[in-house]
Amino acid sequence: MAFTQLGLSQQVLEGIKAMGYTEPTPIQLRAIPLILQGKDVIGSAQTGTGKTAAFALPILTHLGASTGRTRCLILEPTRELAAQVETALRDFCRFTDIKVAVVYGGVGYGKQNDALKGGADIIVATPGRLLDHLQRGTARLDEVKYLVLDEADRMLDMGFLPDVRRIVERCPRARHTSLFSATVPPQIETLIQWAMRTPETIEIGQRRSPAETVKHVVYPVADQQKSDLLRALLDQVHYDSVIIFCRTKHRADRIAVLLKKNNHAVAVLHSNRTQREREQALQGFRNGKFEVLVATDIAARGLDIADVSHVINYDVPQHPEDYVHRIGRTGRAQATGDAFTIMVAEDRQPMAAIERFIGKNIDRVKLEGFNYTYTTLFDDPKDKKPGGGGGGGFPGKARGVRLSGGYFFGPARRKRR
Ligand code: AMP
Repeated sequence: MAFTQLGLSQQVLEGIKAMGYTEPTPIQLRAIPLILQGKDVIGSAQTGTGKTAAFALPILTHLGASTGRTRCLILEPTRELAAQVETALRDFCRFTDIKVAVVYGGVGYGKQNDALKGGADIIVATPGRLLDHLQRGTARLDEVKYLVLDEADRMLDMGFLPDVRRIVERCPRARHTSLFSATVPPQIETLIQWAMRTPETIEIGQRRSPAETVKHVVYPVADQQKSDLLRALLDQVHYDSVIIFCRTKHRADRIAVLLKKNNHAVAVLHSNRTQREREQALQGFRNGKFEVLVATDIAARGLDIADVSHVINYDVPQHPEDYVHRIGRTGRAQATGDAFTIMVAEDRQPMAAIERFIGKNIDRVKLEGFNYTYTTLFDDPKDKKPGGGGGGGFPGKARGVRLSGGYFFGPARRKRR
């Protein structure tokens, strides 16, 4: 089905065309008609499925033209996400006169006050800063008709739920509410019952599974060889852009320094960086100035970074959900991508939890030509089984040889450069 058959306004259709979208993604096909009908919608599609457009396009169609009063509020857990959704909205509504203001913490009030005073039809906000604006009287929600709670489970994780409730209380009861969440823990269920009216639920694919187009592999290695393996991987893999996830800010900084020494163009993204530094890192990564982005999990959620060819987990994530979110950076909107996880002996349990969570085993592979020292991981019967039950065949676009010991030799692709 084409976008033109969904009941969207002409101006919105022109915006979509200018974006180069040719056909709706599954969540857009399901959510757009429901939101256009005025239904409350719960969406549990993973990020990278086109969920921003799924809620933005029908809301923009309903808003029509600017009235200079805030009729739509979109809450986001992080400033990066808020900025990203604002950019997407501006793109979608470029053929309308609708005004969008973005409001988040960590920066001054001046620009935000101006945008709000200018009569924002839509506010995209993180909860804390929006509450500040409400207290100062610089933002009003008494005419809000469309409320979107995006990444609700992350807002819960970050302790924002009480703020979210206070904000929802400031919105009129006669409104349409959409909520997006990868998981629906009990607190979100309670929020749904309190804030929404007979919502329709849309689940796209399995709630927990990462994009089907991503190929996953695990590289077992001795702890002391982790950074050597990372460097060797980057030398062998033919990547266009890669995000490397680390467990701590300190480690992210250390890895970035190491890779810079090896002549990689590296940016770092974590919460100790200033807003300006984060924006520069993201901007530079998006426009190709940096080929490698080293990040902690704060960057993993929902960030719209197009065309990431590889995600490397330098550390196994401690929560299985984080694995899915990290991997969500690649294989977005049907592009294929590769996801590598470096695993040391102490990662056995979290790795098993991840495999249970996503419902499949991930192949263990060795990097061709790498001078491995021994680790007990190499004795694991599971790891010795070729294919590891993860679907067989060579992982990703890797070409390699199957060893008698059971390992695949993972990617022997050379970088183009
Ligand atoms: P999202 O899940 O909203 O973060 O979107 C993920 C990426 O998919 C963004 O880069 C969007 O611009 C892109 N996208 C969303 N909808 C479509 C579509 N129908 N066709 C092609 N790309 C899309």
